[in-house]
Amino acid sequence: MYWRIRGKSNGHSWWGKTAVVVVDVQKDFTTAYSGSLAVNGTDDAFLKSVAEATKKLKELGLPIYATMDWHPAGHVSFASRHSGKKVLESVSIEDGRTQILWPDHCVQGTDGATLLLNEKYITGIIRKGEDVDYDSYSGFQDEVPLMQNKSLGGRCSGQTPRLDRPGATRQCQTDFFV
Ligand SMILES: [Zn+2]
Repeated sequence: MYWRIRGKSNGHSWWGKTAVVVVDVQKDFTTAYSGSLAVNGTDDAFLKSVAEATKKLKELGLPIYATMDWHPAGHVSFASRHSGKKVLESVSIEDGRTQILWPDHCVQGTDGATLLLNEKYITGIIRKGEDVDYDSYSGFQDEVPLMQNKSLGGRCSGQTPRLDRPGATRQCQTDFFV
């Protein structure tokens, strides 16, 4: 994903306006580490290509942000929290949300939550899904009810202020979030 951020131009129209967001490259999402919620195609070769691309983009001078799913134990998206429910079933939450259920994944402090990027290339890490009652498919804000009433809960991620969301110029999503 590419998001406009505040910065100075050095002659290139995109310079200072573009950041790279690398989404959820964590053990639990990869087949390379037999993750609990592995995405197809996330083998060693995939991880190598991500590492090479991250390095190249950093060498170009772009700021690189990494999102991390970072759930407390007993998170609302875990099937294990809802008795009688299985993975990929959904549950209705009383405030109007529908929550799809996943295996336990990316629990804070566990090996499965480990970020598989070289942190020397990372400008900032955006942890998401930290509220036990709200899922977060976005690196910017937790899921909120359809009525978008933030007072009902959900947190903005800690890094949100760094990225100027209304000024986003391009977005390219090649993965999915869980
Ligand atoms: Zn998750």
